[in-house]
Amino acid sequence: MRRTVFTDDHESFRTKIREFVEREVVPVYPEWERAGLVPRALYRRLGELGVFVIEVPEQFGGAGESSYKYQAVLREEIARAGVSFGADVVHTCLVQPYLLEYGSAEQKRRWLPKFVTGELMTAIAMTEPGTGSDLAGIKTSARLSADGTHYVLNGAKTFITGGVQADLILVVCRTAPIDPANRRAGLSILCVDTTSEGFAVGRKLEKLGLRAQDTAELSFTDVKVPVANLLGQDGAAFSYLTHNLVRERLGAAVGAYANASAAIEFTLDTLRQHYPDGVDQNAKFVLAECDTEVAAAQAWVDRALDLDETGALSAADAAKIKLFCTEVAGRVIDRCLQLHGESGYLLDSPIGRLYADIRVNRIYAGSSEVMKAIIAKSIGI
Ligand SMILES: Cc1cc2nc3c(=O)[nH]c(=O)nc-3n(C[C@H](O)[C@H](O)[C@H](O)COP(=O)(O)OP(=O)(O)OC[C@H]3O[C@@H](n4cnc5c(N)ncnc54)[C@H](O)[C@@H]3O)c2cc1C
Repeated sequence: MRRTVFTDDHESFRTKIREFVEREVVPVYPEWERAGLVPRALYRRLGELGVFVIEVPEQFGGAGESSYKYQAVLREEIARAGVSFGADVVHTCLVQPYLLEYGSAEQKRRWLPKFVTGELMTAIAMTEPGTGSDLAGIKTSARLSADGTHYVLNGAKTFITGGVQADLILVVCRTAPIDPANRRAGLSILCVDTTSEGFAVGRKLEKLGLRAQDTAELSFTDVKVPVANLLGQDGAAFSYLTHNLVRERLGAAVGAYANASAAIEFTLDTLRQHYPDGVDQNAKFVLAECDTEVAAAQAWVDRALDLDETGALSAADAAKIKLFCTEVAGRVIDRCLQLHGESGYLLDSPIGRLYADIRVNRIYAGSSEVMKAIIAKSIGI
């Protein structure tokens, strides 16, 4: 279906990213996957390309763009090639909105210029051993020093994207004991410099997919964090964590539908090579059904991108789109892999990689079950 959401400027940006991905990412991507992370130089290169400037205000070296559409173009192009830029999705789509919304003027001056150039790599640490979807259960704790100059941080985090390489990690922790009457109170975000004494990176987790994106265990033992590194207000983090969920889920939906679209393209390429005289009716029908599902997902994403421009995309809308697009992607990629036969089962085949990569989209950024709980609440049950 003809798309109407993007302008010529968006399309020029798309061309620039597409060429970069084809020339500088696809050829070396297997090396990044084997290493389990991307080279630090990638972030510098993304800085040169203007990938990190989009939403950062002009006074800190950015472009001051409030629309999500450039970000959507970026996510589509990465997904289209079936690659990742490592942990950049966390850096730009999760960490950046927190810094922009809750960072003090001094913190923005300190961090954003290096964010824009790609000199600063960031991560966000919420999940702990034993605490996933229910963030109110976070146990990592920080107490203010007697002289009020710093917090002393203790605890452990797990499944932290970009945790191995990050220079700055936004750590969600308890700065007040848990109140059983209001478990969401008392959470704060401390920005931890990873050169701090007492900070350690544990295992780099071996994942089923997204193998060029490092995922780490982290520990904090009496880490001194200056009060100047508290993001926003002490005790207010739970509300901050819900602030950007609509765009986080929209971003997951964009990546998922674009991955599904890529799966169809990869399958068409493979089938044309294997069956130059034409494919059987089953393959035609499977691909026709997949293409129909992807078109529906794309149309919904496009509508959501327009609604998001005016802040009219609700939390329930975003939950529905995330649920729909990630489930479509799971189904479509699985069916496309089947059409490849044995070659699709190879980890280094484009479809095999997509199959492994896409599975997590139904778990993180709010699992499918959590999306259903939000949707059910929105319809009054
Ligand atoms: C590759 C990867 C990268 C990640 N990166 C990060 C990161 O950078 N930073 C970070 O902080 N975390 C990260 N995570 C963690 C991620 O946010 C959690 O996996 C997610 O919050 C879900 O938590 P959980 O896996 O502990 O599942 P749980 O919350 O333990 O849930 C287990 C199962 O129960 C279901 N469930 C949970 N609650 C409900 C409910 N209310 N109703 C019905 N069913 C429910 C879930 O849907 C799931 O099926 C990452 C995870 C992965 C796999």
